[in-house]
Amino acid sequence: MTIAMNDLSTTRPATREFLAQEHRLYIDGEWVAAETGKSFAVLDPATGEQVSRAAEGEAADINRAVDAARRAFENRAWQDMKPALRERLLHRLADLMEERTDILAELDSIDNGKTVGIAGGVDIPCAIDCFRFMAGIPSKLQGSTLKPSVPFMPDGKFFAYTNHVPVGVVGAIIPWNFPTLLAAWKLAPALAAGCTVVLKPAEETPLTALYLAQLAEEAGFPTGVLNVVTGFGHTAGAALASHPGVDKVTFTGSTEVGRLILQAATGNLKKVTLELGGKSPAIVLPDADMDIAIPGAASAIFFNHGQTCCAGSRLYVHKSCFDQVIAGVAEIAKAMKVGPGLDPLTEIGPMVSRVQQERVHSYIESGKEQGAEVVAGGTVPQGGGYFVNPTVFVNTRPDMRIVSEEIFGPVLVAMPYSDLDEVLAEANNSDYGLSASIWSRDVATIHTLAPKLRAGTVWVNCHNIIDAALPFGGFKQSGWGRENGVDAVTAFTETQAVCVAL
Ligand code: NAP
Ligand code: MG
Repeated sequence: MTIAMNDLSTTRPATREFLAQEHRLYIDGEWVAAETGKSFAVLDPATGEQVSRAAEGEAADINRAVDAARRAFENRAWQDMKPALRERLLHRLADLMEERTDILAELDSIDNGKTVGIAGGVDIPCAIDCFRFMAGIPSKLQGSTLKPSVPFMPDGKFFAYTNHVPVGVVGAIIPWNFPTLLAAWKLAPALAAGCTVVLKPAEETPLTALYLAQLAEEAGFPTGVLNVVTGFGHTAGAALASHPGVDKVTFTGSTEVGRLILQAATGNLKKVTLELGGKSPAIVLPDADMDIAIPGAASAIFFNHGQTCCAGSRLYVHKSCFDQVIAGVAEIAKAMKVGPGLDPLTEIGPMVSRVQQERVHSYIESGKEQGAEVVAGGTVPQGGGYFVNPTVFVNTRPDMRIVSEEIFGPVLVAMPYSDLDEVLAEANNSDYGLSASIWSRDVATIHTLAPKLRAGTVWVNCHNIIDAALPFGGFKQSGWGRENGVDAVTAFTETQAVCVAL
């Protein structure tokens, strides 16, 4: 099967105009070339062809950006801005994103390969919502008042209170799977807290981070509050993670790079938040409503082409309904339309890059070699783009690489189980602990199982439901800390105690 090309002529003129630009870095309120003058190609994963170019920032550019963010923090214009005014600017940015939803969605679709339907229906609305949610918090941040007893000063009288002080300059490093959304998850709470930020988007998907910087400029954010340095991880990313002028680094990406970020942060002991990989179980109990569980289990893995950190990539089904569920999921996988992201009929777009396509393909081959059985997909379509057919494996064993390792593509491994103790042990048998889902109508079993799952999010009769109100993050090697939720903004603050002798 040969797949059609992405048709860029279907996009908004403003999208094409943006693609046609030779993109620069956004530092200190200016659009500047990289100090080396270098740039890199931005590719359309549906064709492998260049669609734009971005400046290749390196350590010298990170230094400039961190210096700018430091000045913008120290001049206090942003951190001392009245909370109501900071909120208004964040809302203004959200308004501009809303007006340009179609352009942001097309850029993410072209850059990442994801369908324009997912980009416009999930990524961008959720990113806007994240800005609005976090915009509501600055005026409600509260410290506490305390009465210290101080046992070693029996006659002393004290009064104390706590302040939430912005942590300072934040380095934000994000991956390519949800370019605008993950930028929002970092920027919105950090900016709401009064921090200044240097954002390094993934080399594969630099476009919408730059577009967001344009919108922030238009919204009127003070100079230097938001800086965007495009470039590669081992140069720009590493320089940001180790920079002594950065107070906190917030990272989403692979567990492997998460470890490097942690090591790089030791120099100045910067604060670190890590949102890393996953190998999340979806557990179908025998009493589940199969009309919900079967499409739900398929969507848990195939949403966003499986390039989702919380994807339900391990499916555990009670042996009494295993054949029925697998037949249903395999049928959905076989019927999914694989194609370029801009085609409104596409359900599975390309992997983000050749490297990622080859990685996913090699996992599929390893599954076959280790004796697993393919019941859907298992192949890579012909043609220039980075496509992989949605794949379902059965007859798997826990020691297979496809069962234990994160594949980050549209590949599902399915296992039958006999009882709850067995499935709980298997579901928790992972170095990861990002999420899990339970498919059942039995309220008592659901709520007995949920707290025993070692996962940062447990979904019930749904999967991949993310929201600005829901804390998100991982147990075990899926990360450190949480994003989203009302505590997301305080995660970008230091708690300061002020103690007064009366
Ligand atoms: P990655 O290498 O962890 O990249 C994530 C971000 O970190 C990118 O901006 C990357 O820049 C940057 N980076 C890479 N090396 C760095 C370093 N030494 N210091 C500082 N920053 C660095 O992830 P990936 O290459 O995009 O994907 C590899 C695997 O990671 C995937 O197959 C998947 O398993 C996992 N992943 C997880 C998530 C998630 O949401 N948890 C998201 C994406 C990927 P470059 O783009 O230039 O490499
Ligand atoms: Mg990478």
